[in-house]
Amino acid sequence: MQKTALVTGGAGFLGSHLCDYLLERGYYVIAMDNLYTGRKQNLAHIDSPNFEFREQDIIRPIEVEQNLDEIYNLACPASPPQYQKDPIFTWKTSVFGTYNAIELARKKGAKFLQASTSEVYGDPKEHPQKETYWGNVNPVGIRSCYDEGKRAAESLIFDYICMHQVDAKIVRIFNTYGPRMNPADGRVVSNFVVQAKNNEDITIYGDGSQTRSFCYYSDLIEGFYRCMQTDQDFHGPVNLGNPTEFTVKELAEKVLSMTETQSKIIYKDLPSDDPKIRKPDITLAKEALNWEPKIPLEDGLRNLIEVGLN
Ligand code: UDP
Repeated sequence: MQKTALVTGGAGFLGSHLCDYLLERGYYVIAMDNLYTGRKQNLAHIDSPNFEFREQDIIRPIEVEQNLDEIYNLACPASPPQYQKDPIFTWKTSVFGTYNAIELARKKGAKFLQASTSEVYGDPKEHPQKETYWGNVNPVGIRSCYDEGKRAAESLIFDYICMHQVDAKIVRIFNTYGPRMNPADGRVVSNFVVQAKNNEDITIYGDGSQTRSFCYYSDLIEGFYRCMQTDQDFHGPVNLGNPTEFTVKELAEKVLSMTETQSKIIYKDLPSDDPKIRKPDITLAKEALNWEPKIPLEDGLRNLIEVGLN
């Protein structure tokens, strides 16, 4: 029988790719988005009777008439400049939004997958980060609306698992990139690629020695799906990310070497609370999901530069 999935944040970068993935697998897909950072153009290519889009903010209670088999809760601005623009809205999206989404899962008896984040580890003192690490998060800094919002969402989901036996799973997403990132959203990969293509200065914040581990979107989407298909007794949280670590300066040099550009590197102030290091330990994802990323940064970047962000 055809399964029905709700994807909140369905018009976003990852949400729209997840809609494609589920449609290819024969699902009926409802994409829900308030279009705050999501864009309708990310879904414009879909022409399917198995698809519908609903413009709705998950801060308000969600009502869906259909039976739902799976709810993927991806709705939340995820780029630091975007989520810091209106931090109260970000917090509400994470906390009230997750409450509304998991309430719907409880009512419908649907499986639930939460898009959590490596930001729950804050500026980590453990490296690489395992799921057992509790993190080093500033509760009152400029990133707190997102970090603490996502942490509160994780704890709420575990309360629903314990009190209402909701079949919920949590994935912690590490930096992910690919086509359909908003070119203006301010994240490092999109900024560097756009800057190089436009022959503008490549803006490194700080001295560029901070590290990130970059996962190509298609690897991540596969991880979402595999996690959703796990048994009722698996909840995670499970890290999903590419464990190959780069400094931001190395990323800038890679983008420069892969584009014919006159761009030069310039240095700007490092934003406060910017994590110095980040790299997932993916032992659990390998064991529980039989998942690991396949696309190295060079290949993903080459594809992104060729195809473009949009
Ligand atoms: N960054 C940078 N230049 C930019 C955008 C970001 O040097 O134009 C840095 C940022 O300070 C951080 C890293 O790149 O250290 C990753 O930033 P991003 O916003 O992509 O994601 P984060 O992992 O910080 O949430």
